Amino acid sequence: CGIVGYIGTNNARDIIIHGLERLEYRGYDSAGLAILNKDNLFDIYKDVGRVSVLSKSTNKILSNIGIGHTRWATHGKVTTLNAHPHKSPSGRFMIVHNGVIENFSQLKEQYLKGHTFLSETDTEVIAHLIEGFATYMEVENAILTTLKLLHGSYALLILDTQNPDKLYAAKDKPPLLVGKNTQGFTISSDVLALAGYATEYHVIEDKTFVVTTKNGIKFYNYDHEELDIKFKPLNIDV
Ligand code: GLU
Repeated sequence: CGIVGYIGTNNARDIIIHGLERLEYRGYDSAGLAILNKDNLFDIYKDVGRVSVLSKSTNKILSNIGIGHTRWATHGKVTTLNAHPHKSPSGRFMIVHNGVIENFSQLKEQYLKGHTFLSETDTEVIAHLIEGFATYMEVENAILTTLKLLHGSYALLILDTQNPDKLYAAKDKPPLLVGKNTQGFTISSDVLALAGYATEYHVIEDKTFVVTTKNGIKFYNYDHEELDIKFKPLNIDV
């Protein structure tokens, strides 16, 4: 299982598909991606099976921002509906997640009564929570408020149709790295997915919230205080 996201001036689809292929060794049962289209809406492609299938069905897409996922099912069967990305109720937010949200049933019970869920995953609650908080909070605070409620493990990438020039990320326990070059930023579970797309990289620490645009990146703790991060040179060829 693994995740790859991209924001920059290159083709996000190519970087995400190549990245997911390089993460295949980690094992997975389904794969998917969400790409922001020219109308600032998400096009979602997901399927049970190999990344090569996804690669064929998406080979014409051009976009500068997107998120992708290979799933190792923990909650819910191996189906296309349960494959990531998952959407918030209105479709405003889109997320991919590696890990397990242990308190997802309690969160549904406490905050999301009456909500209809399209999947059986623990992941979908995250998208619903963020959208709920974002109705009365600025989006970064809505995400941070949600992150503080999650118990378990997660590497997360988030897109917001209302902030289509941003890619958000956060993690607690599973690995997540960010790579950069002069064209943009790639965020992934494994350094292998960064090779060729980054000249520098940084291994994101637990409980870090990341806000990326094509021109810059900011790292915060969960109190929304900015962290001082240094990138290291990346010297690997794949
Ligand atoms: N728990 C999530 C699910 O079952 C994510 C699994 C993963 O890490 O791929 O969909």
